[in-house]
Amino acid sequence: MTTNVFIVSAPSGSGKSTLLARVLAADPKLVFSISYTTRPPRGRERHGRDYFFLSREEFEEAIRRGEFLEWAEVFGNYYGTHRRFLDQARAEGKDLVLDIDVQGARQLREKFPEAVSIFILPPSRAELEKRLRARGEDSDEVIQRRLRGAAQEIRRYREYNYVIVNRDLDEAADYLAAIFKAERLKRAKIENEIRPILAGFEQAREGEQDHGAA
Ligand code: ADP
Ligand code: 5GP
Repeated sequence: MTTNVFIVSAPSGSGKSTLLARVLAADPKLVFSISYTTRPPRGRERHGRDYFFLSREEFEEAIRRGEFLEWAEVFGNYYGTHRRFLDQARAEGKDLVLDIDVQGARQLREKFPEAVSIFILPPSRAELEKRLRARGEDSDEVIQRRLRGAAQEIRRYREYNYVIVNRDLDEAADYLAAIFKAERLKRAKIENEIRPILAGFEQAREGEQDHGAA
């Protein structure tokens, strides 16, 4: 099976992690790329589950060793995608899901033009601010910085193949799951599966012709 590379971006607080957690739990064909970051962990975040938390020195060393498929500086911290998740998805015949920002998405599209990208939008600026506050993880200053960042990121939605407005969580999760599933059925991606089916019909037809000739 071809490994699909799915890029999911959204302004911080849009509900992307919540959405992804739901969809990933329901679809065993997806491998989630756990990013590396120099940002400190938030409340319930755990090393190795939500992120791999590194010091700046460790991160810079990993950059030098060429371990990242892409990396970027977001809100003053480094974030990067380790190569091994793509290797793992390929080895297991699964699809890879990347939760990365617009800069990382750009780098990945250059490397994998066939990557499928999805942009998640909050229903409004006011709702985004509400969600950032409700999460209760960031200081007022960080929230203001994230809101300013959101304005910049949202302008880049045109670079994405799909856009989902995360108004209702159930509906948005259904859409995201549907995109992942539909992409797997693109004809070019399932040629290997189609070939033996067609071959079976061809063999039967040849058999019938032989009978006819006899
Ligand atoms: P992100 O990963 O995009 O930064 P989170 O998944 O942490 O965002 O969500 C931010 C906050 O918004 C969380 O408190 C989450 O429970 C809430 N949230 C997510 N989606 C919705 C939704 N559709 N409606 C209301 N609240 C939501
Ligand atoms: P947060 O700090 O809210 O978890 O994430 C901040 C931003 O960094 C989000 O836009 C998120 O998508 C992005 N991000 C997370 N991991 C990566 C990564 O590996 N690479 C890049 N480029 N961005 C990332």
